[in-house]
Amino acid sequence: MKRTRSAQLFEQSQRLIPGGVNSPVRAFKAVGGQPLFIAKGRGAKIWDADGNAYLDYVLSWGPMILGHAHPQVIRAIRAAATKGTSYGAPTGLEVRLAGMIRKAFPSMELTRLVSSGTEAAMSAIRLARGFTGRDKILKFDGCYHGHADSLLVKAGSGLATLGVPDSPGVPADLAKHTLTAPYNDLSAVRKIFDQHGREIAGLIVEPVAANMGVVPPKDFFLQGLRDITRQYDSLLIFDEVITGFRVAFGGAQERLGVIPDLTCLGKIIGGGLPVGAYGGKREIMERIAPLGPVYQAGTLSGNPLAVTAGIETLKLLSRPGVYRKLEERSEHLSNGLTDAAKKAGVAVFGSRFASLMTLFFTDRIVTDFASAKTSDTKGYAKFFTAMLDAGIYLAPSQFEAAFLSTAHTDADIEKTIKAAYAAVRKM
Ligand SMILES: *Cc1c(COP(=O)(O)O)cnc(C)c1O
Repeated sequence: MKRTRSAQLFEQSQRLIPGGVNSPVRAFKAVGGQPLFIAKGRGAKIWDADGNAYLDYVLSWGPMILGHAHPQVIRAIRAAATKGTSYGAPTGLEVRLAGMIRKAFPSMELTRLVSSGTEAAMSAIRLARGFTGRDKILKFDGCYHGHADSLLVKAGSGLATLGVPDSPGVPADLAKHTLTAPYNDLSAVRKIFDQHGREIAGLIVEPVAANMGVVPPKDFFLQGLRDITRQYDSLLIFDEVITGFRVAFGGAQERLGVIPDLTCLGKIIGGGLPVGAYGGKREIMERIAPLGPVYQAGTLSGNPLAVTAGIETLKLLSRPGVYRKLEERSEHLSNGLTDAAKKAGVAVFGSRFASLMTLFFTDRIVTDFASAKTSDTKGYAKFFTAMLDAGIYLAPSQFEAAFLSTAHTDADIEKTIKAAYAAVRKM
């Protein structure tokens, strides 16, 4: 496979952009450091700048649940663009998207649209602090909630890959207000609340963790968090930026039956354009400006193109059978990849929740960030490279999810499993 054009572009981009990329994980540092530059996508496939085709299991890190360039979404964006791209004034489109969100997530009585998941989580934390009058928050090791200062403490994703426990530039005075616990460890959470409960504004959690690789919650973990936060009048914040409209139309809260006070959304609700949202109980959301004193704003918030892409995406996802089919194909893929490794004598733990999955190269059962980190990342890099050479584009890090779209066919999945049988033999 010739990749000279990608290599040239990477040369040039490194002279202009830090590390040649606009988001660190794209640099492929954990898998050899030679990123692909993408020229186009259609359905389940992407093409690089040299014209090579790949089956895409990154899907822009989740948003492209319908695959790339879905004709109905593109048509709607085109039509919207002819009417202007931003007004800095409210539109009927925003009312429509907020209504669709409210219907899918009844706990989001009021919703504020923003432009990224980072902004959603950052704003939800500010609101929790403003509402409770408390400063501390609790998050879990390996959970990622975007790169706001308070949340860049023991975050997963790009940080896990680079092994940076938190970031220079985050004031120690701020980071000290962020308490952390291991994912799935209720007794650790209880201990922290016993000590600091009355100072904790809110607890933020990925209800299904997907930024340390996929780590589902244990039975009763989320319910336990609900009970503890209620006991101490702290807010429970579900970061459903990945899981919202992914693990079910109504997200993890619908599927697992635990209802938070605030919810963060992003990724899918923008249909591949920049959108985020946060929302929750009316009495809490009424503290946001202009109704209340907690400030949060955005020039491009509720952007008409992004909101249009979101509306069309949600319309298509609300058709009957969509999630059942995704689930079946995901199960087939996850089992196929796990079997491929096991039959080659490679130790793996196949972790999956709905259409999110990670093949951890470890002999341990992965339940938290510490166990995820027992994975053989060098082995993953070999597997990744062999798959890429076979035309399969996986996440360039062990600590990320593989995503499935409605555009992936059974034949695509068969092809992927077949490639995996060959790839594990090269490890
Ligand atoms: C991607 C992600 C974010 C950040 O969203 P951006 O749009 O990248 O700012 C926050 N939380 C979770 C759970 C995410 O997966």
